[in-house]
Amino acid sequence: MPSNSVKVFLTEFDGGIFGYDVQVMNENATVGDYLAALEDFQTKTLADCKGCDGCCHERAPLTLADFYYSEYYQQGGRKIAAWLAEVADLQFFGQAADLTIRRTADGACHLLDAAAKCCARHQYRTFTCRSHCCLPKSERAEALRAAIINAGEDELLRRLLAELSETGAMDFLPGKARLSGADAADYAANGFSRLPGERWREARLAEIADAALWRELQQA
Ligand code: SF4
Ligand code: SF4
Repeated sequence: MPSNSVKVFLTEFDGGIFGYDVQVMNENATVGDYLAALEDFQTKTLADCKGCDGCCHERAPLTLADFYYSEYYQQGGRKIAAWLAEVADLQFFGQAADLTIRRTADGACHLLDAAAKCCARHQYRTFTCRSHCCLPKSERAEALRAAIINAGEDELLRRLLAELSETGAMDFLPGKARLSGADAADYAANGFSRLPGERWREARLAEIADAALWRELQQA
């Protein structure tokens, strides 16, 4: 059930194109409020994806939320590194590590049922998948989604590095050797960092959006 803290609504852009916009109605609005409002909007406004798997061939960053959504966690697993070994690809852009959902050789998400063109593990899909609407979006809606996903990926990396520094287990992903030079402190703390991981939904949007975006999000 969405709160009234975040509003997601249809709007008409220049050129008569319809899409969606996001407005924050409460300074304490959280990531959970945002996702609930977006999911409610999707349910009421959009058709389901049956017959299309377009998004499942695109890069999907992994975030802290995805550890808790995962089949691995829900079946009792508690090690981020062990989960990533099952589901993630690790790449580097310069010094920055990038964790994404693992792709098959043809570039599809490994959870895609290619014959049926649908997600084979829909209940465990990622935050990136859940927060995607098949509609154009306003600049502030796009910027907010990107800020949450980036903060969630940074926080996943921070917690992975903290876990690895305790366990010393680095043998989990191709490319992991470069992670051994990184430190959890290399990833700036954000709105997710002060919470126990499983309470990621309580992260405040005000601690994730930068000041300019936060002002824009509150405008009618
Ligand atoms: S959201 Fe993605 S998978 Fe669903 S209909 Fe749109 S392009 Fe296809
Ligand atoms: S998790 Fe499911 S919905 Fe998301 S990209 Fe993979 S197959 Fe598609």
